[in-house]
Amino acid sequence: MLTFNNISKRYQLGQQNVQALTDASGNIAKGEMAALCGPSGSGKSTLLNILGMLDMDYQGDISLADVHYPKDRMAAAKIRRSQLGFVFQKFNLVPVMSAWENVAYPLMLNGHSATEQKRLASAMLEKVGLEDFIQHRPDNLSGGQQQRVAIARALVHNPEIVIADEPTASLDSHTAELVIDIMKSLGRELNTTFIVATHDPRMASHCDRTIELLDGRIHKEAIKWAS
Ligand code: ADP
Ligand code: MG
Repeated sequence: MLTFNNISKRYQLGQQNVQALTDASGNIAKGEMAALCGPSGSGKSTLLNILGMLDMDYQGDISLADVHYPKDRMAAAKIRRSQLGFVFQKFNLVPVMSAWENVAYPLMLNGHSATEQKRLASAMLEKVGLEDFIQHRPDNLSGGQQQRVAIARALVHNPEIVIADEPTASLDSHTAELVIDIMKSLGRELNTTFIVATHDPRMASHCDRTIELLDGRIHKEAIKWAS
Protein backbone atom coordinates (compact mmCIF):
# COMPACT_ATOMS: atom_id res chain seq x y z
CA MET A 1 0.00 0.00 0.00
CA LEU A 2 1.20 3.46 -0.95
CA THR A 3 -0.16 6.20 1.29
CA PHE A 4 0.28 9.91 0.69
CA ASN A 5 -0.97 12.56 3.06
CA ASN A 6 -1.40 16.30 2.54
CA ILE A 7 1.06 16.63 -0.29
CA SER A 8 1.62 20.24 -1.26
CA LYS A 9 4.07 21.62 -3.77
CA ARG A 10 4.93 25.14 -4.82
CA TYR A 11 7.23 25.99 -7.71
CA GLN A 12 9.23 29.17 -7.64
CA LEU A 13 9.13 30.75 -11.08
CA GLY A 14 11.25 33.88 -10.93
CA GLN A 15 9.38 36.22 -8.59
CA GLN A 16 6.24 34.15 -8.87
CA ASN A 17 5.07 31.19 -6.86
CA VAL A 18 3.02 28.51 -8.56
CA GLN A 19 0.97 26.40 -6.18
CA ALA A 20 0.95 23.11 -8.13
CA LEU A 21 -0.50 20.82 -5.45
CA THR A 22 -2.52 21.50 -2.32
CA ASP A 23 -3.13 18.89 0.38
CA ALA A 24 -3.38 15.89 -1.93
CA SER A 25 -4.06 12.69 0.03
CA GLY A 26 -4.84 9.13 -0.97
CA ASN A 27 -4.03 5.43 -0.86
CA ILE A 28 -3.14 3.04 -3.64
CA ALA A 29 -3.23 -0.67 -2.85
CA LYS A 30 -0.50 -3.08 -3.85
CA GLY A 31 -1.06 -4.45 -7.33
CA GLU A 32 -3.65 -1.84 -8.16
CA MET A 33 -3.69 0.15 -11.38
CA ALA A 34 -4.54 3.73 -10.50
CA ALA A 35 -5.25 6.52 -12.97
CA LEU A 36 -4.37 10.11 -12.18
CA CYS A 37 -6.71 12.20 -14.31
CA GLY A 38 -7.34 15.88 -14.83
CA PRO A 39 -6.78 18.64 -17.34
CA SER A 40 -3.38 19.88 -18.39
CA GLY A 41 -1.77 21.85 -15.56
CA SER A 42 -3.85 20.18 -12.84
CA GLY A 43 -0.77 18.72 -11.12
CA LYS A 44 -0.59 15.14 -12.39
CA SER A 45 3.09 15.16 -13.33
CA THR A 46 3.96 17.05 -10.17
CA LEU A 47 2.31 14.40 -8.01
CA LEU A 48 3.84 11.54 -10.03
CA ASN A 49 7.32 13.03 -9.71
CA ILE A 50 6.86 13.27 -5.96
CA LEU A 51 5.46 9.74 -5.61
CA GLY A 52 8.33 8.54 -7.84
CA MET A 53 10.98 10.17 -5.61
CA LEU A 54 12.14 12.27 -8.56
CA ASP A 55 11.15 15.43 -6.71
CA MET A 56 11.89 15.54 -2.99
CA ASP A 57 11.03 19.18 -2.44
CA TYR A 58 7.43 19.02 -1.19
CA GLN A 59 5.36 19.14 1.96
CA GLY A 60 3.48 16.18 3.32
CA ASP A 61 4.14 12.58 4.05
CA ILE A 62 4.39 9.45 1.91
CA SER A 63 4.89 5.85 2.95
CA LEU A 64 5.23 2.62 1.03
CA ALA A 65 4.30 -0.54 2.93
CA ASP A 66 4.38 1.50 6.15
CA VAL A 67 7.91 2.76 5.52
CA HIS A 68 8.23 6.54 5.20
CA TYR A 69 9.85 7.94 2.09
CA PRO A 70 13.40 8.97 3.03
CA LYS A 71 14.38 12.62 3.16
CA ASP A 72 17.94 11.73 2.28
CA ARG A 73 18.79 11.82 -1.44
CA MET A 74 21.13 8.84 -1.43
CA ALA A 75 18.61 6.68 0.38
CA ALA A 76 15.89 7.81 -2.01
CA ALA A 77 18.05 7.03 -5.05
CA LYS A 78 18.60 3.52 -3.76
CA ILE A 79 14.89 2.90 -3.25
CA ARG A 80 14.11 4.49 -6.60
CA ARG A 81 16.50 2.12 -8.36
CA SER A 82 15.19 -1.01 -6.66
CA GLN A 83 11.50 -0.35 -5.90
CA LEU A 84 10.34 1.96 -8.66
CA GLY A 85 10.04 1.82 -12.44
CA PHE A 86 9.18 4.62 -14.86
CA VAL A 87 7.37 4.92 -18.17
CA PHE A 88 7.17 8.29 -19.96
CA GLN A 89 5.16 9.76 -22.81
CA LYS A 90 8.21 9.99 -25.07
CA PHE A 91 9.55 6.51 -24.16
CA ASN A 92 12.94 7.92 -23.04
CA LEU A 93 14.98 4.97 -24.24
CA VAL A 94 18.74 5.35 -24.64
CA PRO A 95 19.11 5.74 -28.44
CA VAL A 96 22.54 4.10 -28.76
CA MET A 97 21.50 1.00 -26.83
CA SER A 98 19.61 -2.00 -28.21
CA ALA A 99 16.21 -2.94 -26.80
CA TRP A 100 17.95 -5.59 -24.76
CA GLU A 101 20.56 -3.18 -23.34
CA ASN A 102 17.88 -0.65 -22.45
CA VAL A 103 15.97 -3.28 -20.49
CA ALA A 104 19.10 -4.67 -18.83
CA TYR A 105 20.15 -1.21 -17.64
CA PRO A 106 18.19 -1.15 -14.34
CA LEU A 107 19.53 -4.61 -13.57
CA MET A 108 23.06 -3.40 -14.07
CA LEU A 109 22.41 -0.46 -11.74
CA ASN A 110 21.09 -2.90 -9.15
CA GLY A 111 24.25 -5.00 -9.37
CA HIS A 112 22.91 -8.09 -11.16
CA SER A 113 25.48 -10.29 -12.89
CA ALA A 114 25.79 -10.23 -16.69
CA THR A 115 24.15 -13.66 -16.87
CA GLU A 116 21.20 -12.53 -14.78
CA GLN A 117 20.87 -9.36 -16.84
CA LYS A 118 20.68 -11.42 -20.00
CA ARG A 119 18.19 -13.90 -18.61
CA LEU A 120 15.83 -11.41 -16.96
CA ALA A 121 15.92 -8.79 -19.74
CA SER A 122 15.25 -11.41 -22.43
CA ALA A 123 12.39 -12.91 -20.41
CA MET A 124 10.79 -9.49 -19.91
CA LEU A 125 11.12 -8.57 -23.59
CA GLU A 126 9.39 -11.84 -24.39
CA LYS A 127 6.55 -10.95 -22.02
CA VAL A 128 5.92 -7.71 -23.94
CA GLY A 129 6.03 -9.62 -27.23
CA LEU A 130 9.38 -8.30 -28.47
CA GLU A 131 11.51 -11.45 -28.44
CA ASP A 132 12.32 -10.90 -32.13
CA PHE A 133 13.49 -7.33 -31.59
CA ILE A 134 16.01 -7.58 -28.78
CA GLN A 135 18.93 -6.34 -30.91
CA HIS A 136 16.98 -3.43 -32.43
CA ARG A 137 17.82 0.11 -31.48
CA PRO A 138 14.92 2.45 -30.57
CA ASP A 139 14.98 4.29 -33.92
CA ASN A 140 14.36 0.98 -35.69
CA LEU A 141 11.25 0.32 -33.61
CA SER A 142 7.74 1.77 -33.91
CA GLY A 143 6.35 4.00 -31.17
CA GLY A 144 4.31 1.15 -29.72
CA GLN A 145 7.34 -1.16 -29.74
CA GLN A 146 9.46 1.50 -28.05
CA GLN A 147 6.85 1.92 -25.36
CA ARG A 148 6.80 -1.87 -24.85
CA VAL A 149 10.59 -1.77 -24.39
CA ALA A 150 10.07 1.01 -21.85
CA ILE A 151 7.47 -1.11 -20.02
CA ALA A 152 9.88 -4.05 -19.97
CA ARG A 153 12.59 -1.75 -18.60
CA ALA A 154 10.22 -0.43 -15.92
CA LEU A 155 9.31 -3.95 -14.76
CA VAL A 156 12.50 -5.97 -15.19
CA HIS A 157 13.82 -5.45 -11.67
CA ASN A 158 10.44 -6.36 -10.20
CA PRO A 159 9.65 -2.99 -8.62
CA GLU A 160 6.81 -2.33 -6.18
CA ILE A 161 5.47 0.55 -8.26
CA VAL A 162 5.59 1.65 -11.87
CA ILE A 163 5.00 5.36 -12.42
CA ALA A 164 3.75 6.16 -15.91
CA ASP A 165 3.27 9.75 -17.13
CA GLU A 166 0.90 9.89 -20.13
CA PRO A 167 2.17 6.56 -21.50
CA THR A 168 -0.30 6.45 -24.40
CA ALA A 169 -0.26 10.13 -25.38
CA SER A 170 2.25 9.64 -28.22
CA LEU A 171 0.51 6.57 -29.66
CA ASP A 172 -2.34 6.05 -32.11
CA SER A 173 -5.51 4.65 -30.58
CA HIS A 174 -5.00 1.04 -31.66
CA THR A 175 -1.42 0.97 -30.33
CA ALA A 176 -2.51 2.75 -27.16
CA GLU A 177 -5.05 -0.03 -26.56
CA LEU A 178 -2.33 -2.67 -26.93
CA VAL A 179 0.01 -0.84 -24.56
CA ILE A 180 -2.77 -0.45 -21.96
CA ASP A 181 -3.52 -4.19 -22.19
CA ILE A 182 0.15 -5.07 -21.67
CA MET A 183 0.48 -2.83 -18.63
CA LYS A 184 -2.69 -4.18 -17.12
CA SER A 185 -1.93 -7.85 -17.66
CA LEU A 186 1.69 -7.58 -16.51
CA GLY A 187 0.61 -5.55 -13.48
CA ARG A 188 -1.76 -8.35 -12.54
CA GLU A 189 0.72 -11.13 -13.24
CA LEU A 190 3.59 -9.54 -11.31
CA ASN A 191 1.39 -7.87 -8.67
CA THR A 192 2.97 -4.52 -9.48
CA THR A 193 1.23 -1.27 -8.61
CA PHE A 194 0.79 1.09 -11.56
CA ILE A 195 0.16 4.81 -11.16
CA VAL A 196 -0.68 6.30 -14.51
CA ALA A 197 -1.24 9.97 -15.30
CA THR A 198 -3.51 10.14 -18.31
CA HIS A 199 -5.79 12.22 -20.49
CA ASP A 200 -6.98 9.07 -22.21
CA PRO A 201 -10.47 8.02 -21.07
CA ARG A 202 -9.81 4.45 -22.25
CA MET A 203 -6.75 4.24 -20.05
CA ALA A 204 -8.74 5.52 -17.09
CA SER A 205 -11.58 3.08 -17.78
CA HIS A 206 -9.15 0.16 -17.51
CA CYS A 207 -7.87 1.26 -14.10
CA ASP A 208 -9.02 -0.05 -10.71
CA ARG A 209 -9.01 3.42 -9.22
CA THR A 210 -9.24 6.91 -10.63
CA ILE A 211 -7.97 9.97 -8.81
CA GLU A 212 -9.07 13.23 -10.38
CA LEU A 213 -7.05 16.39 -9.94
CA LEU A 214 -8.24 19.92 -10.58
CA ASP A 215 -6.07 22.97 -9.91
CA GLY A 216 -3.72 20.90 -7.75
CA ARG A 217 -6.42 19.41 -5.54
CA ILE A 218 -7.92 15.97 -5.57
CA HIS A 219 -11.58 16.60 -6.19
CA LYS A 220 -12.88 13.15 -6.96
CA GLU A 221 -11.81 9.61 -6.32
CA ALA A 222 -13.48 6.47 -7.58
CA ILE A 223 -12.67 2.84 -6.88
CA LYS A 224 -13.91 0.05 -9.06
CA TRP A 225 -14.13 -3.56 -8.06
CA ALA A 226 -11.48 -5.48 -9.91
CA SER A 227 -13.07 -7.08 -12.95
P1 ADP B 1 -0.12 18.19 -15.45
O1 ADP B 1 0.90 17.12 -15.48
O2 ADP B 1 -1.44 17.80 -14.88
O3 ADP B 1 -0.29 18.84 -16.79
P2 ADP B 1 1.86 19.68 -13.92
O4 ADP B 1 2.08 18.90 -12.69
O5 ADP B 1 2.86 19.58 -15.00
O6 ADP B 1 0.39 19.37 -14.48
O7 ADP B 1 1.72 21.22 -13.56
C1 ADP B 1 0.96 21.70 -12.45
C2 ADP B 1 1.18 23.22 -12.31
O8 ADP B 1 2.53 23.46 -11.95
C3 ADP B 1 0.95 24.00 -13.60
O9 ADP B 1 0.43 25.25 -13.26
C4 ADP B 1 2.34 24.14 -14.18
O10 ADP B 1 2.44 25.28 -14.97
C5 ADP B 1 3.18 24.26 -12.92
N1 ADP B 1 4.56 23.73 -13.09
C6 ADP B 1 4.90 22.47 -13.43
N2 ADP B 1 6.22 22.32 -13.47
C7 ADP B 1 6.75 23.52 -13.14
C8 ADP B 1 8.07 24.02 -12.99
N3 ADP B 1 9.13 23.25 -13.18
N4 ADP B 1 8.22 25.33 -12.65
C9 ADP B 1 7.16 26.13 -12.46
N5 ADP B 1 5.88 25.72 -12.56
C10 ADP B 1 5.67 24.44 -12.90
MG1 MG C 1 1.90 16.23 -17.07
